[in-house]
Amino acid sequence: MEAVKQVRAYDRIYINGKWVESGTSEKLQVIDSTSEEVMGVVPDATVEDVNAAVAAAKSAFEAWSQTTVEERSEYLSKIAAKLAERKAEIAAVIAAEVGMPLPLATSVQAGLPVAMMNYYAKLIKEYQFEERIGNSLVVKEPVGVVGCITPWNFPLHQIVCKVAPALAAGCSIVLKPSEVAPLTAFILAEIIDEVGLPAGVFNLVPGRGVPVGEAIAAHPDVDMVSFTGSTRAGRRISELAAQTVKRVALELGGKSANIILDDADFERAVRSGVSNCYFNSGQTCSAWTRMLVPKAKMQDAVRIAKEAAEKFTLGDPREGKAKLGPLVSDVQRERVRTYIRKGIEEGATLVTGGPEPPEGLQKGYFVKPTVFADVRCDMTIAQEEIFGPVLCIIPYEDEDDAVRIANSTIYGLAGAVWSADVERAKRVARRLRTGQVDINGGSFNMTAPFGGYKQSGHGREMGKYGLEEYLEIKSMQF
Ligand code: NAD
Repeated sequence: MEAVKQVRAYDRIYINGKWVESGTSEKLQVIDSTSEEVMGVVPDATVEDVNAAVAAAKSAFEAWSQTTVEERSEYLSKIAAKLAERKAEIAAVIAAEVGMPLPLATSVQAGLPVAMMNYYAKLIKEYQFEERIGNSLVVKEPVGVVGCITPWNFPLHQIVCKVAPALAAGCSIVLKPSEVAPLTAFILAEIIDEVGLPAGVFNLVPGRGVPVGEAIAAHPDVDMVSFTGSTRAGRRISELAAQTVKRVALELGGKSANIILDDADFERAVRSGVSNCYFNSGQTCSAWTRMLVPKAKMQDAVRIAKEAAEKFTLGDPREGKAKLGPLVSDVQRERVRTYIRKGIEEGATLVTGGPEPPEGLQKGYFVKPTVFADVRCDMTIAQEEIFGPVLCIIPYEDEDDAVRIANSTIYGLAGAVWSADVERAKRVARRLRTGQVDINGGSFNMTAPFGGYKQSGHGREMGKYGLEEYLEIKSMQF
């Protein structure tokens, strides 16, 4: 088992194919979510650094956009191979930064980026970049310089969900990773440097949302900004990007409903619902945080969910026994505990968990796995994204009522439906205003599009739709 033994200190940023000094000596500290100690240091970059990175990306774009798909595919394959070589290191860094148990961090946080790079390496060799429509030749071209701004919960996966298709399309990139979990972005930059991607095609500017993220969103030479993060920041980025009419793709928050219909395998549906909600300690945008059960089955749901939740033992994500690690930061822990207190105040029934610190864990940003029952749709905990291990069980009267409740938040990212009759489940799934719906526990598909309706954002990542986000369309008539 590989642990992060020493502080990973990066004193440079990656611009125009070189590791260069930032315009400031200010640094950001990266905190280990279990030990609460400093595990990394990166530059707290400036607006001038963004300007230099955008200038590099702009001058690299012309040549990169003219490369063949075979050339770009080869770069992606080489990056994938090097990510695979450093998989254990990447998993250890993310387990420490974010708090995900190491076995899961290895397969998901470190494994998915390898698969995603390889997927786009293959896809562009098959993708139809041109079509004839009457007397027109319609060609799909890279959109230009892309600003990528990413969150901390799946730090490398969310970066690669943007960087892989953008490179595949022929775009050049300025990446700003989350200031909370930036270290694997540096590993990616090291790999990109090693494989010899042409200078300026990929640039890394770490830093805070304000000023670095905002400078990227506002920059006139950035053609597109692709953002994953909170709905709050997504709104601000849209406002800034509107000034230069740039393309914006937003992957934002969620409050996904898990509808368990009256004919479902109830035991299985409730257990899967708890696991899904607690994945990555609930720090997953698409988590099924609202479990919708027939009113008459509330007591059964409470019994099964309590039993399942209490099996989620908390502990050090590196030690292999824990099913649930800490949350990413003290800020996040306090935020989640405040929501738990709010749920109690608003009259929801606390089934298990609660806002108190868990026993025996003096260090680390842990929150007890929590279940609320008898949650009403108008409660804060039923409407707002909590981003922690907190499940809300909500009773419904009938199928129409379940659909109404599911669609009653500002979000529309994901959801689930369980029924013994798949056709019935599909009918209900079609009525949900969300970008994803898993039926009877259908598994994650990284080649299917992922994204939101409503205030969960717009645009799609992953699969061929993820590539098309980075393409412009030109018609030539002759
Ligand atoms: P966040 O919005 O605070 O930060 C995300 C990124 O945006 C960071 O890099 C941050 O520095 C930057 N940022 C913050 N304010 C900015 C501003 N004004 N201008 C430009 N950039 C700014 O989100 P977070 O706390 O890192 O991540 C959690 C959120 O992300 C949750 O709401 C979660 O649902 C969402 N998320 C969504 C998806 C999805 O695919 N839909 C995936 C993961 C996370």
